[in-house]
Amino acid sequence: MDHVSRRDEVAANLVAVRERIATACAAAGRDPGEITLIAVTKTYPAEDVLHLLDLGIIEVGENRDQEAAPKAVAVAQAGVLAHWHFIGQLQRNKARSVVTYAEMVHSVDGEKLASTLNDQAARLRGTPQKVLIQVSLDSNPLRGGVPPADLAALAETIAKMPALKLCGLMAVAPLGEPAKPAFERLARYITLFQTDYPDATVVSAGMSDDLAEAIACGATHVRIGSALLGKRPVLR
Ligand SMILES: *Cc1c(COP(=O)(O)O)cnc(C)c1O
Repeated sequence: MDHVSRRDEVAANLVAVRERIATACAAAGRDPGEITLIAVTKTYPAEDVLHLLDLGIIEVGENRDQEAAPKAVAVAQAGVLAHWHFIGQLQRNKARSVVTYAEMVHSVDGEKLASTLNDQAARLRGTPQKVLIQVSLDSNPLRGGVPPADLAALAETIAKMPALKLCGLMAVAPLGEPAKPAFERLARYITLFQTDYPDATVVSAGMSDDLAEAIACGATHVRIGSALLGKRPVLR
């Protein structure tokens, strides 16, 4: 596939995704202007990121530092603005790298990780690192996220960290369960959380297959990969 036709393919996919977001917003009685589209570019090359940026995308999501860091360098060298969202499970030894390029880290799910991010952000950044707390919607610790029962305590800890800015919550729909009831649980956690943190308004939820359910339940940021760039060869 040559350069031009890949761009056209991505452009058509982007139109379709924006239409799905508009339809979901209409059904939920929401304004599409409330929804930020994060293009998830994991497994796809920096050229695809550049196509998306050329098509008006600014927010880009990646889930592994090993892949994100060189792409962020390549895009910066091309002289194009991108906001990188780190959306995957984060090992503490990658925090030092991630704070150098991430606009927002979506996947903070424990005090030790938060503390490491805070230390590295204090050393390496001029502005606080924006973070979201990932809330678990199932009881599978392998998929990341803080159990809802521990959310309030983690939020309180992070809110006190000077080099982190707590911006909201993130969640991934559980496997093997319909997304709707899971996102309805998320909506309840959001209501409770925002009572204490009214300025932490970001709700990162919804992927290619469940963006409508997420928008119905209050998502402000949807993370869309395969619907924009195609099915990834390996499930990750
Ligand atoms: C890969 C990934 C996405 C995007 O998933 P698609 O189904 O390809 O849209 C969103 N969020 C996270 C955390 C991911 O790892």
